[in-house]
Parts: sequence; structure tokens; C-alpha cells
Amino acid sequence: MLEQLKAQPADKILALTEAFRADERHGKIDLGVGVYRDAYGLTPVMAAVKEAEKRIWDEQKTKAYTQLVGDAEYRTALTDMILGEGAVQRADLSSSASVGGTGAVHLALALARAANPELTVYYSDPTWPNHLTILSSMGIRHQSYRYFDAESGTVDLTGMLEDLQQAKAGDVVLLHGCCHNPTGANPTLEQWAQVAQVVKESGATALIDLAYQGFGDGLEQDAAATRLLTGALDEVMIAASCSKNFGIYRERTGLLIAKTAEAQQGTVQANMAAQNRQAFSFPPDHGARIVSTVLTDAGLRQSWTEELEAVRLGMLELRAQLSAALREETGSDRFDFIARHRGMFSRLGLTPEQVEKLRSEYGIYMTGDSRINIAGLNRETVPVLAKAVAEVIR
Ligand code: PMP
Repeated sequence: MLEQLKAQPADKILALTEAFRADERHGKIDLGVGVYRDAYGLTPVMAAVKEAEKRIWDEQKTKAYTQLVGDAEYRTALTDMILGEGAVQRADLSSSASVGGTGAVHLALALARAANPELTVYYSDPTWPNHLTILSSMGIRHQSYRYFDAESGTVDLTGMLEDLQQAKAGDVVLLHGCCHNPTGANPTLEQWAQVAQVVKESGATALIDLAYQGFGDGLEQDAAATRLLTGALDEVMIAASCSKNFGIYRERTGLLIAKTAEAQQGTVQANMAAQNRQAFSFPPDHGARIVSTVLTDAGLRQSWTEELEAVRLGMLELRAQLSAALREETGSDRFDFIARHRGMFSRLGLTPEQVEKLRSEYGIYMTGDSRINIAGLNRETVPVLAKAVAEVIR
């Protein structure tokens, strides 16, 4: 029977990683997959995470099931980190631990579809490709809204607001809370207020994908748009990931938070539990326990915050270096936006042919849309990339 299954297209980003591995050239550069790497190309376990694991090993007395929506201490600690302590009435919130940020997005959409099978989900053009894969596989109608002005490398706010006006009650507007993937371009807080206004008038539910808190302008600053939207709107869902900011990619640690009217809270919470039950019963706990251990211990939290801040500042420095090097190599300000972008990614605005030429002639790998992982660079490779880009656009 399984021979009836259709062949699946290869995942483009993972295929790129394979091609990079197979490339025998010395000095090749991998700017593809979205994993943080330090100056030595490594993705180390953060010191606070290691210490938390040690404590869990020492102190954990059971591995019996937690709750269907995951451990309460984890959900509270991460909710506080995202929304700020006491900012939103807790009685309005429901939450569930999830299988990574991906699982949180999936759970949010499953709830939305259960509430309104006829919904349309509005997503940014472009967006993280897996958003579209998930939406298609769930059979949810989806439509893009304008987001990125490739010419200036900034957010096309006018286009975005105009397109979001089509949304209506029962629809979902999917937003990137910070560090937009793949473009790196983000609305200012003033612009977010305008987005909130349009979504509010539409009656649609905002779904905020928050996968990079702490990678842009800082832990608090990166949560500012999420807090603004959550304050302004009656109904919001937040799909958070701990993969990047805690560096626990493979532990699959995420959280879905829903803000609704207080009267709905019990039902929403029960629906989260029911969705989990039929999909996998209990969400994974190890990563969640690492996160709550770090967040609730002053010393570990301090250590983690400092290490995360060093990661963030390292990426900002690379952004400044790359945009300066490109200015020098190209003699133009065309790539100045790289220094203004935030997060792990920027889209360079090259043609697919130029991207291909960078790969075949220079051994520099990036996704076909010319998105680069800033953390794939270091001091030595920044000038190499700048020179190569200048040559292919000549
Ligand atoms: N949303 C966005 C925008 C992402 O870039 C990612 C990670 N690539 C995720 C969600 C999900 O991350 P994870 O499932 O690994 O926690």
C-alpha cells in the first residue's frame, strides 16, 4: 500500500547543506541553513544550558508525564519573558508547550481551523517557506500580503496595510514578531502600531511567530512588537521558539500562548490539550525544563542573558562589517540596508543567476532568493563575500 505514496520534493535548504558538504573546495562558505554559528563555525551548547542540564540530572526524581499542555512552571516563565511580568492579565491567557516553534505554529493553525474551517491566513510575501508548507498540508486557504520593498531593502508598509485590510473576523494574520525570516527587514514600533490598528479594525486574529527573541535589538526590544499587538488586540496567538535563543534546536522547545476574552480561556486551554492528545499526547519536556531552570535561577539567567547578548552583538558587528565592505567594493550604498536589518538573515537582492554564480564560481552557498545567514560569516569571510558579490553584480 505504501507504494502509492507520492515522491516528495527535496527540502531546498537541506539540499543546499548537502551540496555544501559535498563541495571539496577549500574556503567554501555556507550561508544557507538558519543555525547560529560562532566565529569558528560551531554551534556550541550555551554555558547556562549545560549547567541547567547538570542540575536536572542531579535533581530530577521522575520522568512521569507532565500535563497535556506541558509543565506549568515552564509556561509561566517563558510567558513572562515574552510578554513582560504582569503586562497582560493572566486570566486572559492560555498556553501549551509545543514541539519547537514549528509545533506552536501548527497548533495555532489547528485551533484556528477548528474554530473556523473557512478561514484565510494572510502571510508576508516572502515568509519562512515552512509556513506555506504547513498551511498547504493542513488544507488552509492562504493569501500573501505585501511586505518587502526589494529596492530599498525595507518594509513596504503602505502595501502591507492595504493588503491586510482584506482580512476579516475569523481570518488569521501571520506576523513575524521580530527578525523577519527571510528578509531581515522589520517594521518600526510606530509602524507596528499602524499594523495593530488595521488588524484590530479587520477583526482578524493575529498569529505572531516569535522565533528569534534576543537576536535583533535585545531580549526586551525584540518582544516590543509582540507586547504592543497583544495589548492592542482582543485576540492574539503567539508561537514562540526557544531553538535559537537558548541554542537547543534539537530539543524541540516552543510555546503557544493565546490571549482571548477571559470567558473563553478555559475552552481554549482545553482545546490545546485536546489537539495535543490526538497528535502526540504530551509535548517534550527536557528542553522546556532547561528553559525554566535557566529563567527561574538568577545566576543562570544572568549567564544566559550575557551569552545571548554576545551572540547578538557579534551578528550586529558582522552586519556593520559586511555593509561597509560592500560599500567599498561596489562604490555604492546599495547594500547599506544590511546594517539596518536585524536577526540572523538578510536578503541581498541578487538574481537567481547571480546566486548560482556565487555557488559555482566562488563556493559561496546561500538560498536561491539570495538570503544569507549572517552567523555563517566571520571576520575573514566577510571581505571574501563582499568581493564576490561585487564581481557577480558587475
Ligand atoms: N518560525 C520561523 C520564522 C523560523 O525561522 C523558525 C526556524 N527556522 C521557526 C519558526 C521554527 O523553529 P523551531 O521549530 O526549530 O523551533
